[in-house]
Amino acid sequence: MSNTYFTPGPAELYPTFNQHLQTSVNEQIGSISHRSQRFRDIYKYTDEQLRTLLNIPATHDIYFMGSASEVWERMLLNCVEHESFHLVNGSFSRKFYDYAQSLRKFAYIAEKPFGEGFDAADVDVPEYAELVALAHNETSSGVQMRPTEIHKLKRKYSKKLFCVDMVSSAPYPDLDYSLIDSAFFSVQKAFGMPAGLGVWIVSETCLEKAERLQQYDSMTIGAHHTLPVLHKHYQTFETPATPNVLFIYLLGKIAADLNKIGINAVRKQTEEKARQIYKFLEQTDGYAPFVNEERHRSQTVIVANTTRPANEVIGAVKEAGMIVGSGYGKHKEGQIRIANFPATSAEQVGKLLDRLKQVG
Ligand SMILES: *Cc1c(COP(=O)(O)O)cnc(C)c1O
Repeated sequence: MSNTYFTPGPAELYPTFNQHLQTSVNEQIGSISHRSQRFRDIYKYTDEQLRTLLNIPATHDIYFMGSASEVWERMLLNCVEHESFHLVNGSFSRKFYDYAQSLRKFAYIAEKPFGEGFDAADVDVPEYAELVALAHNETSSGVQMRPTEIHKLKRKYSKKLFCVDMVSSAPYPDLDYSLIDSAFFSVQKAFGMPAGLGVWIVSETCLEKAERLQQYDSMTIGAHHTLPVLHKHYQTFETPATPNVLFIYLLGKIAADLNKIGINAVRKQTEEKARQIYKFLEQTDGYAPFVNEERHRSQTVIVANTTRPANEVIGAVKEAGMIVGSGYGKHKEGQIRIANFPATSAEQVGKLLDRLKQVG
């Protein structure tokens, strides 16, 4: 019997994944050259589908990376001369900050307790910070920062570069790329693919900064996948190194499937399923939503406190063929995490909640 994965990444594969994978094998995508017209067509197709899905304007390039965490390093090397500023409310936003310290940037931090989120009004960006790094969706705690708040903050600090981690929520957040300089995600979360591809959306402003920093004798923007080199290859829909051609192909196909549904419908379905899950957690004995403030509750990774030990709940749900995520780090004992990605239907969510009710 096959399981349904409600884990926050790797996650349930998108329902059309198998069919696209089969087609890619039949078409020998795994053997084509990344310097061929066939590959350039694939890159262009995936680029177009992502632009449509996420409403990305021509001012921004789309690059393919090894993973999202690779983007943390690239962003800091290419776009920060001295100082970065990080909104930290969990393990993933903290890692972006840790990378900045490892790269010897002056990294400043504004931190919230685990389970709490940021609003624009809470945040004072330091005067000399060049980059504001924040997570739209903090996967470890199930907290989101609403795009309207992110946009508000950027308007207040319009000269600073804003970089949004939307790894465990894209394509859900409706970001306005006239305000957001850079955003990134990995495909093993809400796009329903196996891990192995990161996507980096980057503005001209970021590129110009990297070109400027590259000229300073005292600076390095790194050697691997620098923005100027990525941009140069992007002009012909190529990549500097041999990329994961197969996954770029599959991502284009899944983005096209999501476009057929329409991004508004995808977002509405996500919100309806989230509403169903949070309502259940509030009304059912044995469970409670971890995040108190409704506006900070993630729509895509839902964290629940459990009265029973969480491993017992996870085990009992697994017996019925459903896999939910464990709590993060020290929250393993009393929390579960439920991914609410496009790959799982309202009907599958209904089955999960029925089972949770029996075993809580
Ligand atoms: C999973 C995750 C990452 C890291 O993604 P990788 O693909 O493992 O590099 C970064 N940020 C958030 C919010 C995540 O959920």
